[in-house]
Amino acid sequence: MVQSLTKEDFTSATSRLLGFKFRRCFIIEEEEEAKRSTEAMKVPQVMSMKGGVGQNSYTNNSSIQNIGISQLKHLIREAILDLYSTTFLNNLVIADLGCSSGPNTFMVLSEIIEAIDERKNECNLPLPEIFVYLNDLPGNDFNTIFHTHMARFYENLMEGKKKKLPNCFIAGTPGSFYARLFPMRTLHFVHSSYSVHWLSQVPPGLEDETGQLNKGKIYISAISPPCVFETYLKQFQKDFSQFLRFRSEEMVTGGRMILSFAGRKSGRKEYCYSFIILTQALKDMVSQGFVEEAKLDSFNIPYFSPCVEELKDVIDRENSFDLDRIERFDVVLDACVEDREKPCSEADKYKIGSIMEKGTRAMTEEMLASHFGMEILDKLFQRFREIASERWHDEQDNLLNIGVSLTRKHL
Ligand code: SAH
Repeated sequence: MVQSLTKEDFTSATSRLLGFKFRRCFIIEEEEEAKRSTEAMKVPQVMSMKGGVGQNSYTNNSSIQNIGISQLKHLIREAILDLYSTTFLNNLVIADLGCSSGPNTFMVLSEIIEAIDERKNECNLPLPEIFVYLNDLPGNDFNTIFHTHMARFYENLMEGKKKKLPNCFIAGTPGSFYARLFPMRTLHFVHSSYSVHWLSQVPPGLEDETGQLNKGKIYISAISPPCVFETYLKQFQKDFSQFLRFRSEEMVTGGRMILSFAGRKSGRKEYCYSFIILTQALKDMVSQGFVEEAKLDSFNIPYFSPCVEELKDVIDRENSFDLDRIERFDVVLDACVEDREKPCSEADKYKIGSIMEKGTRAMTEEMLASHFGMEILDKLFQRFREIASERWHDEQDNLLNIGVSLTRKHL
């Protein structure tokens, strides 16, 4: 086990932990496969974000999510300080679900360590030891997390600090969060940003004998038949309820959980800005003969942007968590634009279009390549950028994010 917080120690300890974790994971998968629900195993393996540290990687194109996580820091601090000051003094077990691979992976952990450090000084409390599980689907780029991002995290943490920081033990946990991932009653704090809006599967029933119900679209659109929205909503309700049930088994009573979603305004059914643009870009590729129409008709994204009422409804009905807070917030994407009140200049529009394009590409490239083929991607996203730049000003007020703070009930 690791006893001190030097970078070398952590790198080697984590490699050992990881090796153990992956071996353990394979054995468990073989033994438990029959027992796990079939739904949980249906998660598309192509869903993972673009790995590595290249130009199109999630590492270099997750600034929108980064802004969103920053805007929920107060909820994270509040939950951690509550836990630290009251209940769990010796150790804190944390899981980050859908951690991906990029600078955001360690952002919340840095925030937690800072908060604990401050409170320890104020109240003269003992330092807890921190155990962190980083979870994502098996296709996630765990190697880059532990090879590159973890080293940077420790460098930043140690920078200019001579004081003692908490011992931290970090391990990777590949698997779907729509199944059990951790032992019963072990987690004190769970965080998941921009992940639980990814469904466990494309909702079944989007096709019927007469053809595809959602023909020409890739997600719920303004002109999709109402049953398309209902099918997506049903899948989200089922998935999110399972997510809560499994976490309630893994978390201690009084444990805290913070979730963030790319959400939707109440009363608006179809909204997901990136997918409206992606649909248009794909349609343009069909008209230009680069993509077969049937291919577009049979593609649907396993994703659902919930509104506040839909989230509350599942949390209430599942009944394992108290809802402490639910907050709507804008991700101020035009932070890169000088004056939000003024109409965007052409250069600003291009800049925003480009951020949207790269962010959406990092999220969907694996999925699109597997369905349509790699060769269409450059052209498709060039068109995406053009549309995103043109339409930005009409759409900017419709982006909505939702943060949720929950406490595991005493049952
Ligand atoms: N939390 C990071 C990454 C968000 S991207 C951030 O805020 O920047 C969404 C992540 O959720 C992806 O890495 C994707 O692979 C992961 N994900 C989607 N479905 C998942 C599932 N069922 N189980 C675990 N991870 C999942």
